[in-house]
Amino acid sequence: MTARHGTVIVGASIGGFTTAESLRRGGYEGRITVVGEEPHLPYHRPPLSKQILAGEWTHDDAAIAPVETISALGIDLVLGTRATGLDTGRRVVHTTEGELRFDSLVIATGVSARRLGQRSPLAGLHTLRTLDDATGLTADLAGAARVLVAGAGVLGSEIAAGLVKRGLAVTLVGRSRSIRFGQVGALLSPRLADLHEKNGVHLRLGLHVVRLLGTDRVAGAVLSDGSEVAADVVVAAAGSSPRVEWLAGSGLRIADGLWCDSAGRAAKDIYAVGDVARRPAASGTGSTRVEHQQNAIEQALAVAGTISTGFPHSPDIVPFFWSELYGTRIQAYGRFNGASTLEVVAGDAAEGKFVGLALCGSTAVGVVGWNLPRAFREARAQFTSGSPDIGERQFVP
Ligand SMILES: Cc1cc2nc3c(=O)[nH]c(=O)nc-3n(C[C@H](O)[C@H](O)[C@H](O)COP(=O)(O)OP(=O)(O)OC[C@H]3O[C@@H](n4cnc5c(N)ncnc54)[C@H](O)[C@@H]3O)c2cc1C
Repeated sequence: MTARHGTVIVGASIGGFTTAESLRRGGYEGRITVVGEEPHLPYHRPPLSKQILAGEWTHDDAAIAPVETISALGIDLVLGTRATGLDTGRRVVHTTEGELRFDSLVIATGVSARRLGQRSPLAGLHTLRTLDDATGLTADLAGAARVLVAGAGVLGSEIAAGLVKRGLAVTLVGRSRSIRFGQVGALLSPRLADLHEKNGVHLRLGLHVVRLLGTDRVAGAVLSDGSEVAADVVVAAAGSSPRVEWLAGSGLRIADGLWCDSAGRAAKDIYAVGDVARRPAASGTGSTRVEHQQNAIEQALAVAGTISTGFPHSPDIVPFFWSELYGTRIQAYGRFNGASTLEVVAGDAAEGKFVGLALCGSTAVGVVGWNLPRAFREARAQFTSGSPDIGERQFVP
């Protein structure tokens, strides 16, 4: 059957663009339209809190593909355009620029940053999800000396590290008593806290912002223990919400993401990939939504395969993420829920360079790399191939 309307992809970021590129490179001949509300060509988000925040990269360095590649692939990029509704019966996406009909639809609308709940917007209060957020934040930092970062997870930690690099005095506030680094957090928290403190970050853990100070412009915040922190800029890194508002009334199942099967199908010929997609958990009970770049890429490749061939592609995608704090590369591969110990299999934890196996009882459930990327890659490959013995095991102190 020849597709008449082709594939419409909503969301022009890594998940959406990878789906489009993979469809075309896989020989899909139908029309491919990628709709994105941001005005920019698709870009990588990880550098926003790393190289771009530190002032080392420009926007162009973060581009996913040069414009020549995009046009050579024959992908219609419709930027600055928001999808506003979905009619599954008529197979139509409503957008701010009119209707788009589709044979297949891929939803890759990601998440938005949660804001600190204050009634009227205050100057100096930021989130970091988009290129425009990064531009607004870096411009505002020009006259700032003290910054409060609310949220001590991966993103808040990276923002704190980037701000320190810019010479700012940083207070990092987190609800949890330890640094939360996704599922791997419990294994690395003391080490992460130590890294922040050695680099001059003032940690205020087990606390949260109850009120912002300032009238037109933020002047600081009151924390849950009643203390006040003065700040010229406040950055909220307090979680995210899936971008599903435009799907209200579509009949698709929505609850903290768009629910799909293991092949990413939300309904017949309608798929979801990336941060917005909620899929059955690998354990067989419950569901998960993963906010990592590599997950978006692998889901996109699989959905493109399903659309091209008509056969469901349901790979087991094991979560992988990396981060960078003060020049320390942190990598984690696996499902760390319940992991309580790390055993070093390469390097030396005391020297701040190691690769460790995360253990749940005596079962290895993942691999963690701390400033040793090459050894991490090797250990990950061995772990994936089910090798029972990886390196010389020692316990991480
Ligand atoms: C600052 C930052 C640093 C990160 N660092 C890392 C890291 O080091 N490692 C890692 O693994 N992951 C990292 N991530 C997470 C990673 O960037 C995401 O997992 C990835 O971007 C998800 O891709 P996506 O395509 O699913 O969604 P997104 O990248 O969120 O893209 C969704 C796109 O859809 C658009 N959109 C939303 N609604 C609509 C609509 N109705 N109509 C049209 N367009 C719409 C949005 O504007 C956006 O452009 C980071 C994220 C951020 C914000």
